[in-house]
Amino acid sequence: MAQFDNHIQSNFMTLLQNVIRLIANAPKLEAVAPTILREAIALTGASAGFYTVLEEPSALYVNNLTEDMLPDNDMLIASVEGLEQDIHLSTNLPEPLHGSFKGWLVVPMMHKHELAGVFGLLFSEDITLSDEASSVLLSLMDSLTIVTSSEKSSARHYKVTQNQNEFVRIVSHDLRTPLTSIRGFASMIESAEEDPRKSHFADKILSGVTQMTSLVDNIQDAGRYDPETGFYEMERTPTDLIEMVHGIVRNHLLPAEKEDLTLRVSTSDNIPIVNVDNNMIERSIINLVDNAIKYTPNGGEIEVGLEKKDDNLLITISDNGYGISPENISQLFNRHFRIRRREHNRVKGSGLGLFIVRSVAHHHDGEAFVESVEGEGSTFGLRIPLKGENLLGGVASV
Ligand code: ADP
Repeated sequence: MAQFDNHIQSNFMTLLQNVIRLIANAPKLEAVAPTILREAIALTGASAGFYTVLEEPSALYVNNLTEDMLPDNDMLIASVEGLEQDIHLSTNLPEPLHGSFKGWLVVPMMHKHELAGVFGLLFSEDITLSDEASSVLLSLMDSLTIVTSSEKSSARHYKVTQNQNEFVRIVSHDLRTPLTSIRGFASMIESAEEDPRKSHFADKILSGVTQMTSLVDNIQDAGRYDPETGFYEMERTPTDLIEMVHGIVRNHLLPAEKEDLTLRVSTSDNIPIVNVDNNMIERSIINLVDNAIKYTPNGGEIEVGLEKKDDNLLITISDNGYGISPENISQLFNRHFRIRRREHNRVKGSGLGLFIVRSVAHHHDGEAFVESVEGEGSTFGLRIPLKGENLLGGVASV
């Protein structure tokens, strides 16, 4: 009997050594996960298994299963929520696995205290797991966690690099375009003695400077307001939002008029003075009004609204412009997201405006929202909860 145990143990050791060698040579999930899945199935006598990495980038590896036999991610998360990173045996299978199998062995894989993936083995018979098999399985799971973590870190690194590339692209291209025209028109003014087109050139110079200023402002705000990486200290002051939106609209009447757009304000009369960061809120409303002007064709209408609803202040900017398709809506508030559309071609932008709006809302414990129908128009908004520090004399909510 002892000899038999030794034999099994040496098999397990060889298996672990092979997996570690595999990780050392190619620490990539696509190389490691299928092998671990196959070995775990052989080790436990399971009928099938899967390993899924949640969120971005998501990945799925299955053995003896088709993808459509697996529950969707939300159901998987609900099934393992609150479980520790350990082996869990259960006969309580989520749909559609329920019915096809008798039970499952499931291991939630954690990365920095968050659920990063789910490993599952599916059994057609009753599950029996020896102590040796359990401990080898746990070592295999540790290997899988290490590879998943390294994959997540490199995905994050890739994203940061992409953001930097995008930033360089904006600075080198979008700032260069107005600079070129500024240089051109300035030199025309310089060389033209008494040219009647002087005011036209001056107009072009001013519009180039405005474009550059707004781009630089947005690059700066996106960096400092970012709730994850920014280091902006909020400065709350008692703020009259009615006065603020009227001021913003007044400053936008001219640009709106140039595009033949009607711009108006609609506020209800029960709006309290709030204790918010004046600059932040103003910058986000300006971004939303700028967008409404940019993305509404000539002749359209824009309304800036302010209302108190339950315990919230809603600041809304509605337009009857191009609107947004359902597949683009979910990404709108992400950094650098822009919709590539023919109608937008003449419109300059960095894809930072809505990211700033969402960051500002989060700093005030609120949220940014959008409702839109493509071809009919959009309503963008900020919800500021009337509680805690947002109230005059308020304290952090309890
Ligand atoms: P930018 O305007 O600089 O591209 P934003 O973050 O402000 O960046 O907006 C992201 C994208 O959302 C825009 O590229 C545009 O396609 C879309 N968008 C924003 N506001 C509107 C709007 N009012 N109507 C239609 N599309 C909009």
